[in-house]
Amino acid sequence: MLTHSELKELAAIRPNEKLFISLYLNVNPLTNPKGDYIIHFKNMAKELLDKIGRDTEKKVKNAIDKIESHLKGNKRELKKGIALICSSDLEIWKNYNLSLPVKNEIIVDNTPYLQPLVFLLNNYPRCVVLLVDRELAKIFIVHLGEIKEYTELFTPDIPGKHKKGDWFSLSQKRFERHIDYHVGIHIKEVVKALEDFLHKESMNNIIIGGSEDAVTKVKNILPQAIIRKVISTFNAETFLGEKEVLNKTLKVLEELEGEKQKNMAEELITKAMKNNMAVIGIEDVLGNLQEGKVMKLVFLKDLTAVGFKCSNCSFLTVQTIKSCPYCGGKFEGVHYLIDYTAQKAVEQGALIEIITKSDELVKAGGIGAFLRF
Ligand SMILES: [Zn+2]
Repeated sequence: MLTHSELKELAAIRPNEKLFISLYLNVNPLTNPKGDYIIHFKNMAKELLDKIGRDTEKKVKNAIDKIESHLKGNKRELKKGIALICSSDLEIWKNYNLSLPVKNEIIVDNTPYLQPLVFLLNNYPRCVVLLVDRELAKIFIVHLGEIKEYTELFTPDIPGKHKKGDWFSLSQKRFERHIDYHVGIHIKEVVKALEDFLHKESMNNIIIGGSEDAVTKVKNILPQAIIRKVISTFNAETFLGEKEVLNKTLKVLEELEGEKQKNMAEELITKAMKNNMAVIGIEDVLGNLQEGKVMKLVFLKDLTAVGFKCSNCSFLTVQTIKSCPYCGGKFEGVHYLIDYTAQKAVEQGALIEIITKSDELVKAGGIGAFLRF
């Protein structure tokens, strides 16, 4: 499964004599009813091989053939998108079946091309969803467009309205007290289950949904430390199915992400203008990255740039300079400068934020960074 630590591992791969093939392909059966993605892959691969020259072609041909047979042979495991990264000698083979669409791309370079994976991990963070009513509760985990039920809690000893007859002898007041008592027990157990879960799995995004009454009761007794992580609540009269929970969660995440991105782009530009622990523009970002100062790298989703990389210390630049100002090493040209920049940031443990849309950031050069010091 695709995780931050897997990503970090891939980002840490140093260029050596190997080449890497990074494939991103939409395989959604709805848009590829006849397995059209194989044709798309073949066309992309042909175009790539025509472009890269004889020597490189020789090195990667075997791996490309292997990918093609993998795509043909594993149709049943495919979801919506595929991210496949392999080395030309096939010693490294990472295949992720994604429940989210990706942009079709195939890239050959001396390190893996990771920008799309970085984007997915940041925009679809792991999320826990608690669904609760007066006698039933379920905890779900939502990650990268997928939902999994973690646990279910049923506290059945609650006389609902349909059972009112059984309680005929009780006065209305006592009847209501009895219900309250049982709902109270149920809610306490639900909160305990959620606490236990969060104890095991550290997650920073919690969504709580269900009947209005139950959601309020849960929120009233949740500890502050957990309340702070609740990113959204919603009311639903009937108990929702998995698919509905997933759709609601994805919508919440999308809205939050849009808002977060907008605020972040504004903050970045304002701070950079005041020279306050932030910079904008590729050259300033690269200089600070080289010095280990970047706390959070921010850039536009489709930003691309070409530049140069020091073959000795991996200093990146867009300027044509003879030798590296940091170590005197020689420069080589790189096609995917933004991806190298993101890889370096991931490796250093910096955070990454990919902005889908921001006119202000476009004007500011499409890239910037918040600094550690
Ligand atoms: Zn250098």
